[in-house]
Amino acid sequence: MNHVVSQKTIAHVTHVSGRGYWSGQKVTLTFLPASAGTGIRFRRVDLPSKPEIPALASYRVDAVLRTRLENAGASVEMVEHVLAALYGMGIDNCIVECDAQEMPGLDGSAYAIAIALHQAGRMDLEVPCVVHRIRSEMKLGDDRAHVHVSPGEHEGLTLMYHLDYGRHSPIPSTSSTYHLSPDEFLHSIAPARTFLTLADAEQLQQAGVASHVTTRDLLIFGEFGPLQNQMRFPDECSRHKLLDLIGDLALCGMRIDGKVYAHRSGHQLNGRMAEYLMNNSSETKSLQVASRRVA
Ligand SMILES: [Zn+2]
Repeated sequence: MNHVVSQKTIAHVTHVSGRGYWSGQKVTLTFLPASAGTGIRFRRVDLPSKPEIPALASYRVDAVLRTRLENAGASVEMVEHVLAALYGMGIDNCIVECDAQEMPGLDGSAYAIAIALHQAGRMDLEVPCVVHRIRSEMKLGDDRAHVHVSPGEHEGLTLMYHLDYGRHSPIPSTSSTYHLSPDEFLHSIAPARTFLTLADAEQLQQAGVASHVTTRDLLIFGEFGPLQNQMRFPDECSRHKLLDLIGDLALCGMRIDGKVYAHRSGHQLNGRMAEYLMNNSSETKSLQVASRRVA
């Protein structure tokens, strides 16, 4: 029997502030409730016409190590953690106002955003949710890195991420698997932080980006583990890649029912899968709508 799913927005306005990792620029995000069918849209309130950028795969442009969306000359950067938090916390419709191009890096995780959304509460919009039910298998990528989707045994989205950079990498090889729910997202996935090797971090800073970021702001792996930092979970790195995967897949603009298995995939491959899901949607709507409000 179909689980009853109706579209949600946040019950109250909420804010999150920080600095962009790459630009160092201060930014405040204001999450506004939105009506059914709005989807997730960014609004650049620092630009004269306050342009909106829909969070859909068709607005994604390739960028190194991050997800960028562009519409009519305006863009937003590093959106994946914001989108993961909205999807993970069960929010289908929201306007995200931002006063800079780059989203806040925070502690490298989506936890502050997930907490803010949790405290804002969810409101049921009493309109059926648009669900992409995965009915057949599809694999993108190659043996080195791939994303594979297949029909699920349960309602909702089950995600598995396998991270393996080889025996000589200081980053441990781990796997993480979750059947997504707001509770699971908030406590187990949102706190997992961005990570880099020391060599990658040095290369970025030599290129003049992320100059204010220190080893305390995210996980930087030296030869023997994280520098001046401790792991929050033994599989924190694969959990973070799973967080990125959720944010990137959210660009299909629908709830997803099915299983996703990812092996070493990054934003570009994830984004291509979101595009595939968006363009090959056998979308179904739930038949009934719940009338209760969700706290
Ligand atoms: Zn990330």
